[in-house]
Amino acid sequence: MCQNHDNPSFVLRGIDDVAYEERPIPEVTGDEVLVNVKKTGICGSDVHYLVEGRIGDFVVKAPMVLGHESSGIVYKVGPKVKHLKVGDRVAMEPGATCRACDACKSGKYELCPDIVFAATPPYDGTLARYYRLPADLAYPLPDNVTLEDGAMMEPLSVGVHSVSNLGGLRANQSIAVFGCGPVGLLCMAVAKAIGASRIIAVDIVPSRLEFAKSYAATETYLPAKPVEGETRPEYSRRNAEAMKKELGISDRGAQGIDLVIDASGAEVSIQTGIYIAKTGGTFVQVGMGNPNVTIDIGTVMTKELVYKGSFRYGAGDYPLAISLVASGKVDLKPLVTHRFKFDDAIVAFKATKAGKSEDGKGVIKAIISGPGEDI
Ligand SMILES: [Zn+2]
Ligand SMILES: [Zn+2]
Repeated sequence: MCQNHDNPSFVLRGIDDVAYEERPIPEVTGDEVLVNVKKTGICGSDVHYLVEGRIGDFVVKAPMVLGHESSGIVYKVGPKVKHLKVGDRVAMEPGATCRACDACKSGKYELCPDIVFAATPPYDGTLARYYRLPADLAYPLPDNVTLEDGAMMEPLSVGVHSVSNLGGLRANQSIAVFGCGPVGLLCMAVAKAIGASRIIAVDIVPSRLEFAKSYAATETYLPAKPVEGETRPEYSRRNAEAMKKELGISDRGAQGIDLVIDASGAEVSIQTGIYIAKTGGTFVQVGMGNPNVTIDIGTVMTKELVYKGSFRYGAGDYPLAISLVASGKVDLKPLVTHRFKFDDAIVAFKATKAGKSEDGKGVIKAIISGPGEDI
């Protein structure tokens, strides 16, 4: 088969059932572009679909190509495309929206009910040789930004959306981030780029805290374990008091925490975060765990906390992510710990699921190259 006339794709067919399939090469019309996909990062959501076949209400009912964190090279452009040409290196934003609904028109397109999002059922993802998308979602990469960086713009945009767009973090403000996975780390990276005065990383794994400190955090906090018979709310209240004491956090003033980000989805992190946020502060929920958690709504009220849900990314997030990397304010390279060939995609998924590769090396982000490409 000629390299340019086939479209090998990595397809999820059922729980723990993946296969390479030959898919038709999409036709481009109007304002669309066809991108030759070069790099794709694997994220927790991809692994979730593989292992459980669903994320909440999104259920895989038919075979679906996986992958949504991608970059590549423009291979074809539709007749109406003006700002891109064949050969341009681009980051690919994976959600095509309707542009007509209230959410789209009000600048919150991430809430579009008709969004066609890569590798969210029933829509195919980007782990293929070719992927078609509206041209405005293909962002040209400056020369000093690599294709791997380009793939990482997707999770970085989640950090930009949570910290800058929704969290409204400004220079000299303080932030605490619960969870030191890729999204938590990228939230810290954005906070650092914005000029945060304190960036507190919280995680229950010491090695993850060490990495966070070397990467973007100014301080770390390792919560003590719960004691027997203690309820989660009791534990979280005690944990918050201990954290405040150890790090010199107060409810008000210069020692207050302006913005709390939960990138863990863990109930005790959410509970603790509400206690350590300053009076009048903001809490942004970006981690997804058990959807039903107990929180101290009295504290949310009396502190007048602003509690916001964060879903993907919206207007301006990709452009800011790219400019933070191009200007050297965010370095994505330390986060790419593993690289795989397209033919080894399943190994990348296994390593991401296990949190480490077979050699024991911890995974932060695994990147899969396009079909036929070297790692
Ligand atoms: Zn993702
Ligand atoms: Zn819409």
